[in-house]
Amino acid sequence: MFRNNKKKLFPKKVIKSVYALDYQRYWDRGFRGIILDIDNTLVADNAPANRKAKKLIRKQKKIGFKTCILSNSDKERVRAFGKKVKSPYVYKAHKPSPRGFERAMRKMHTDRSNTLFIGDQIFTDILGANNAGIYCILTDVIDENERKQVKIKRIFERPIVKKIKKIAELRKKMTKKKK
Ligand SMILES: [Mg+2]
Repeated sequence: MFRNNKKKLFPKKVIKSVYALDYQRYWDRGFRGIILDIDNTLVADNAPANRKAKKLIRKQKKIGFKTCILSNSDKERVRAFGKKVKSPYVYKAHKPSPRGFERAMRKMHTDRSNTLFIGDQIFTDILGANNAGIYCILTDVIDENERKQVKIKRIFERPIVKKIKKIAELRKKMTKKKK
């Protein structure tokens, strides 16, 4: 079973930071909705929304994107965050279930063909986005100072992330050669 699902642990792309992505390019490629994880993607683990996050979402909306915050955290935290950055949100998303992703798309009036997702965890974020059939991007974590529960998951994630980065590196080399 795990073998069949292995593919679902792989993102389409790996990035260093959500703040360094060329969103215009994704708009030009036809994407219209962006779903964003909070912890370790937009801000450090359990940190409140900050100016940087607010500015990023403003920038995405200015291009034309619809946005939605998607988190497994509770209502209080996610609502406060969503309000601060002025974005719709889905709390208690139960990632890797595809349900939260589907709710987020309904809120944005987008579908799996034109929605992208960015998150920092393989077993919740990436697996969930792939379960929902959405283009997904894995970002490096913002803060290594995480809760114990997440830290344990990282031990299992590390070899997969390493492999993903290796593949990404190879792909880059291949495309360079073609040019
Ligand atoms: Mg996260």
